[in-house]
Amino acid sequence: MASAATSGHIQHVLVVGGGTAGWLTASHLAKKLRARSPDGVRVTLLESDNIPTIGVGEGTVPAIRQTLQYLGISETEFIRECDASFKQSIKFVDWVHNPVAGRSDYYHHVFDYPDTRRGDLTPYWLKQAGTGRSFVDAVSVQGLVCDRGLGPKNMTLPEYQGLTSYAYHLDAAKFARLLTRHAVEELGVRHLLGTVEQVRRSDDGDIAAVVTDRHGALEADLFVDCTGFASLLLGQSLDVPFIDRTDVLFADHALAAQVPYGQMDAPIPSYTISTAQESGWIWDIGLPERRGTGYVYSSAHTDHERAETVFRNYLGAAGENAEVRRIPMKIGYRDRFWERNCVAIGLSQGFVEPLEATGILVYDATAKMLADTFPANREVMSTVAAQFNRHVRYAWERVIEFIKLHYCISQRTDSDFWLDNRAAESIPEALREKLALWRCQPPSDYDFPSKMEIFNLPNYLYVLYGMDFVTSAAHISNRFADDDNALARFVEIEAGARQLCEQLPAHRELIRKIKQFG
Ligand code: FAD
Repeated sequence: MASAATSGHIQHVLVVGGGTAGWLTASHLAKKLRARSPDGVRVTLLESDNIPTIGVGEGTVPAIRQTLQYLGISETEFIRECDASFKQSIKFVDWVHNPVAGRSDYYHHVFDYPDTRRGDLTPYWLKQAGTGRSFVDAVSVQGLVCDRGLGPKNMTLPEYQGLTSYAYHLDAAKFARLLTRHAVEELGVRHLLGTVEQVRRSDDGDIAAVVTDRHGALEADLFVDCTGFASLLLGQSLDVPFIDRTDVLFADHALAAQVPYGQMDAPIPSYTISTAQESGWIWDIGLPERRGTGYVYSSAHTDHERAETVFRNYLGAAGENAEVRRIPMKIGYRDRFWERNCVAIGLSQGFVEPLEATGILVYDATAKMLADTFPANREVMSTVAAQFNRHVRYAWERVIEFIKLHYCISQRTDSDFWLDNRAAESIPEALREKLALWRCQPPSDYDFPSKMEIFNLPNYLYVLYGMDFVTSAAHISNRFADDDNALARFVEIEAGARQLCEQLPAHRELIRKIKQFG
């Protein structure tokens, strides 16, 4: 087996860990580096059959479509095998105000971006030129599609194309199985089962090999740590510190449960439902066969027993026989993600609560970046690593700010959890500065200058104005004076939404047809 020490060229990558992150990384590397061809880079994935994967991670964002298509996975096969449904949005319930019986204020964060080709309508919505509708309904057609329980496409469209933008909800265990088969059979990844018992370092400090229970010492030129929260290689062996960010994002535990539908033909929402609770929030995801649910909470603000009571109250009769699993979460990221000849991707790299489905998104993006910027030899590795570390750190910091935004502009006052979330010292300075700016003018592209933004202008617009954030229209009126045109466009969007709905099937019906005829 050639190693960096003998040739200098990176000829063999060993991915350790076979969760979603491990298989996505192995797939990206094998595809880009042509693992199947004799002159390509060999990619091996080792996973333990004694250490389970985390088994959650059911919500995605639209970028996953590009990845699946790029890897050569058929959408029909994906929907059939992963018990997948379509996700067009997140509906946030009780996030803005204290919950009052009978009222559940909510806002959508939809995936269709507002149409800005003829100018940004946001200032006009702020000036009340709209028709008294929510921001999302004023600027996008997708809220109505979601409210009517429709899918994002009809059967006439090719795979991966929709009349609205969409991602998926999926069964994490089934998704890992699909990725495994595809990576091995189509992309040429070598798959080994075994547990790493020791990480062997060479004299220069690089990782030389991982010593396993079944395959002895496995050498490689580059190691990818996808061992989940354990971070066996980067964290434990190379000792790269973990930067804890529970000072900003307090939720550090989750209770997860899979629950049945009351009736098997019940409508499937084509959005994640996120309902705020006294010390966190509950996700509710509709798959064709079952619901996936979980309560994400701060153990500093509640205890585990109380959390389970809150969760079971939410589930009601559907959760009576549900097995509830408690998952501790490490919130934050590693100080460096690529150290020596080891890169961490997945929970081993960093994690924040899954409010906006950032896990798979960031892991997929960083796996792609690793493949796209793959160093040819050991000599240039530290230069490539420095850029990787800068970009990935930037991405995590921005993700943390975006998630924090949902909490710090909430007006809830009913528990310490919500009050503490608004304490200035818990809000990153960069976010505080942006919020100050956005009080006197709406966000613009100038506020999102990097190519590595994970969340962009439209995402911020939906969250800010879905949550009643106030930007003073007084400061912008003179720059946006074309009210008649704006009003006409609001009417156009409203009519367009109704027309679109006529072309779209019910969500469950769409899935049934794809499975049957797709
Ligand atoms: P894991 O799934 O933990 O896999 C670790 C792998 O390492 C396993 O294969 C294990 O066998 C292997 N391993 C460990 N130690 C060894 C060893 N010594 N030797 C050999 N192999 C070893 N993400 C989203 O995008 N959307 C969501 O909705 C979402 N929801 C989430 C909810 C919760 C509560 C949590 C905690 C996470 C959520 N995530 C979500 C994140 C999601 O779980 C991860 O994106 C995804 O599962 C990646 O996990 P992983 O592959 O890094 O680690």
